[in-house]
Amino acid sequence: MAAQDPASPVSVLLVCDKLNDPTPLGRAGRALATDLKNHHIAAATAPSPADAEAELEVNPHLQTIILDWDMRQDPDHAAPRALLRAIRARHARLPVFLLAERDDAAHVPAEVMAEADGFIWLLEGSMEFVSSRILAAMRRYRQELLPPMFGALIRFADEAEYSWHTPGHTGGAAFLRSPAGRLFYDYFGERLLRADLSISVTELGSLLDHTGPIGAAERYAAHVFGADRSYFVTNGTSTANRVVMTASIARGETVLADRNAHKSIEHGLALTGAHPAYLLPQRNHLGIIGPIPPAAFQAESVAHTIAVSRLTRGRAQRPVLAIVTNSTYDGLCYNAARVEELLAPSVDRILFDEAWFGHARFNPLYRDHYAMRGAPRQMDRSGPSIFATQSTHKLLAALSQASMIHLREGRAKIEPVRFNESLMMHASTSPNYAIIASADVSSAMMDGPAGQRLTSEAIAEAVSFRQTMARLRAEFATREEWFFGVWQPDTVRDGGTELAFMEAPSALLAENQECWALAPGAAWHGFAGLEPGFCMLDPIKVTLTMPGMTQAGRLDATGIPAPLLTHYLAAHGITPEKTANFSILFLFSIGVTKGKWGSLVNALLDFKRDYDANAPLARVLPTLCAAHPAAYGALGLRDLGEAMFTAMRATDYPERLQEAYNFLPEPEMIPAEAHDRLIRGEGGLAPLAALAGGVAATAVVPYPPGIPLLMPGENFGPVDGPVLRYLAALEDFDRRFPGFAHDTHGVEPAESGYRALRY
Ligand SMILES: *Cc1c(COP(=O)(O)O)cnc(C)c1O
Repeated sequence: MAAQDPASPVSVLLVCDKLNDPTPLGRAGRALATDLKNHHIAAATAPSPADAEAELEVNPHLQTIILDWDMRQDPDHAAPRALLRAIRARHARLPVFLLAERDDAAHVPAEVMAEADGFIWLLEGSMEFVSSRILAAMRRYRQELLPPMFGALIRFADEAEYSWHTPGHTGGAAFLRSPAGRLFYDYFGERLLRADLSISVTELGSLLDHTGPIGAAERYAAHVFGADRSYFVTNGTSTANRVVMTASIARGETVLADRNAHKSIEHGLALTGAHPAYLLPQRNHLGIIGPIPPAAFQAESVAHTIAVSRLTRGRAQRPVLAIVTNSTYDGLCYNAARVEELLAPSVDRILFDEAWFGHARFNPLYRDHYAMRGAPRQMDRSGPSIFATQSTHKLLAALSQASMIHLREGRAKIEPVRFNESLMMHASTSPNYAIIASADVSSAMMDGPAGQRLTSEAIAEAVSFRQTMARLRAEFATREEWFFGVWQPDTVRDGGTELAFMEAPSALLAENQECWALAPGAAWHGFAGLEPGFCMLDPIKVTLTMPGMTQAGRLDATGIPAPLLTHYLAAHGITPEKTANFSILFLFSIGVTKGKWGSLVNALLDFKRDYDANAPLARVLPTLCAAHPAAYGALGLRDLGEAMFTAMRATDYPERLQEAYNFLPEPEMIPAEAHDRLIRGEGGLAPLAALAGGVAATAVVPYPPGIPLLMPGENFGPVDGPVLRYLAALEDFDRRFPGFAHDTHGVEPAESGYRALRY
């Protein structure tokens, strides 16, 4: 096979407890290992099934296992049977040969025969014959491992000689003509450049027409991700959302949109000329955005929302699409089955924006809480048609921008030819083939038992981290010392007993959905109006909390703002996903290890030590100090934390944030009209004081929380209203603490203060 690099650490694992014996079998086993080496195959050996399991755990290169059926002191063959089960739980198709004597083979039970791929009799036949069988099995296995498009890409890129099509670097050749190009070539390597192909390569099919190996890869993804049809998108879920919206909303139609939505939803509204009515999610005391309460999805409530919203009232129109973010940035996931049931009377198409949730289908922990549940044929076709858009690159393994649209058709027919027009409207005619191949590989990674294993590993690591943090906090509490918290339930139920979170069996936390459910009325989450089983927290999204906020959402007497910790962690080479005022979000995605989160725990303990000792900023945050010596040169870490906290108290900053997000501003025009005016040059930049009563020309999106405070076309409100008071508090904070400025989309920081574009 062309893909095989002789230097790659492919290996055969020989599990046998007699390899060191001075017997014919021991000699034959050693000879086999040598013979494989002569074929450039590294053979690892494991003297016991336990060693073999350990090898299986750490070595993704294994391509064949040879398993001794006749271990010493194991007359019932319990050890090889258990190992065979363990192998099959991970790898459905990894070739496994049983090493046996001919006489024994007759007694191997049928279920073992069915799980294994054959026998090897080391004492008969030539070593060459044994090796060639193993090589053939490995070759078949590698072919099977390769998903459709990646396999075709490898074969094509390795065989093709000269190309006369784009990209113009033609397999990297152009880069070799320049010193800077040479550095690029050497850094990324020949493979990536040879695999960078164009749509004119007919052998690979087309992403726009869903033909050839690319079409096959999309059908394979549909099979793995549980869709009727799946589409690859190489410009992220940003584009995937716009595709679904342009495919679903005709000009001027009504849309029901989650207010907790990504920028791409706003862009979809502007592109389609939609008239949006918004579903408002809740926020809790920590500023975490919660679910839209179930009552808001009820038919009467939806009708009311549309009837009273300024952009939709009087239009007597049924919404053509409902958009729900699942999961939220902070890891809250809806019972999608329930959301569909509640929305069914009101709308015929639902888009679940699952940018952060591509892993859900592969672990039973998330049962019912994602869009593509069960097999497509089990779906009730009389309900709404369902789209899920997923950033494959966010929580599965794929290159940035790899995204998928999954579709299940309900009563709203979505004909492929019609849908494809919208897809092509947003797609490039030169998609990146490495991105497509990575999406294809992520299907293969999640297919079969591997999907559950990989997701379970990530969940288990997140659970360990959470329990470790809870234990440390309890330990510090006995000494009346502060420590970080983790946003999670304080107790969980194990059968009839209530256990402290840190004392719960880790398997219970990793497998029992109820541990993560937002029980109605539970204090830890703080969201009202829930029903049992409506929403759960995804354990792999870990929100670390800082001292400073009370359960009532007010500032405490003392506290440590989270941005300070984020700066400190950055100095330790640790970058979290998101920083809020008093919380920081970390993602435990596939491949996270104990070592990785262990160093996070260490850094947190270091922060606590340095904070409590008020260590000089010049030592702990040298870069910040060097950039702003006048502001910070003389301060210690705690001095700065206290100054920030005092400033937040002075402006009531967290309360302002809360207030600003707990109401819907008054819309004056649809997002499309606001955009039309933008390109016509209407309006102008104005300082905060002059924004009162004006209309936002662009969305205003503070990070965090990263959801729109104002959509384009909405009114800033009065100068002492929630929006402008919040922006003023933010401006004040930024002015006082250089280096900690907030990043607010739609607001231009200037010497004189914030400015925004208004009509
Ligand atoms: C990140 C994100 C997107 C956009 O996805 P990209 O793959 O980055 O383009 C869409 N929706 C939500 C909710 C997101 O968080």
